[in-house]
Amino acid sequence: MARALYMQGIRPGDVVLNAWAYSTHNGAFAFDEALYRWLNCVVLTTGTGAVTSSRRQIELARDYGASAILTTGDYLLHLAETAREMGLDPRRDLQIRALPNIGDRALLEETFGVPNYASYGFHEVQWVATECPARRGLHIFEDAFVVQVVDPESGEPLPDGELGALVVTELYKTGSPQFRYNIMDLSFLYPRERCECGSWLRRMGPFAGRGDNMVKLRGVNVWPEAVGRIAMQVPGVAPDYFVRALRSGNRDEMVVSVVGEGDPGGFPRIADAVASRLKEELGVRIGCEVVRPGELDGWTELHSSPKPKRFRDER
Ligand SMILES: [Zn+2]
Repeated sequence: MARALYMQGIRPGDVVLNAWAYSTHNGAFAFDEALYRWLNCVVLTTGTGAVTSSRRQIELARDYGASAILTTGDYLLHLAETAREMGLDPRRDLQIRALPNIGDRALLEETFGVPNYASYGFHEVQWVATECPARRGLHIFEDAFVVQVVDPESGEPLPDGELGALVVTELYKTGSPQFRYNIMDLSFLYPRERCECGSWLRRMGPFAGRGDNMVKLRGVNVWPEAVGRIAMQVPGVAPDYFVRALRSGNRDEMVVSVVGEGDPGGFPRIADAVASRLKEELGVRIGCEVVRPGELDGWTELHSSPKPKRFRDER
């Protein structure tokens, strides 16, 4: 974890604000330990906005010259907005030099003027891989993890480059070590080769959806993430979606809900355009409904969860 934070720009001696929840979840403590014990950083233990107000978080980040604020990309962007309300410029008046946050990359980079690198990890094993400045895949920390990609249904290993479920084995942990843990997150492996950055550490693709979300629609395997990706390419659709699988009569059906931009009078036309694009690209009919901004938040938990939810099986 300390290594991943270092790769993203945090250096020994930095002051780092930790806005994750110090609670029964291990997230905030894992960051704290990486920063304090392994990177010799000073940690500002603010916790979330519920514990320390957003304005106070900004004051502390400014006064102590924090080089990073650890939290979701969404909350970090909210903090930037708070800074502006306080008459501050997030680029000039804060000293953010690293963005180890997961969120809207383009917006984060534009707001803070610092590169944002993709990374991959999860609760049970912590940080598995991080992107380097070459931005061609995420380097796996191979001295600490064995990462395999398998067929989500059969569990058989897949060739390099093929999308499948990630299986992770930990080599270093003394407490709760995971052995061939199939997390069912989808990704792929790059062939073993030297990266432009000089590293030989094997690279994997970014998180590409959930392996257990696959739905068979009239014989066609459909991934909700693929449905969302296609739907969001249609003009007038905002970058947000939620997919539901339903049982209608004796058939499985799928409905994608997307957020419409502009006048709601144009929503039926957008819905038709999304449905026909999906039929064209996936070969099956998938329903589409267009909703107003904010109406999906209850389903996606976009603002309350580090990983937005994109799918619900209602069959
Ligand atoms: Zn590299």
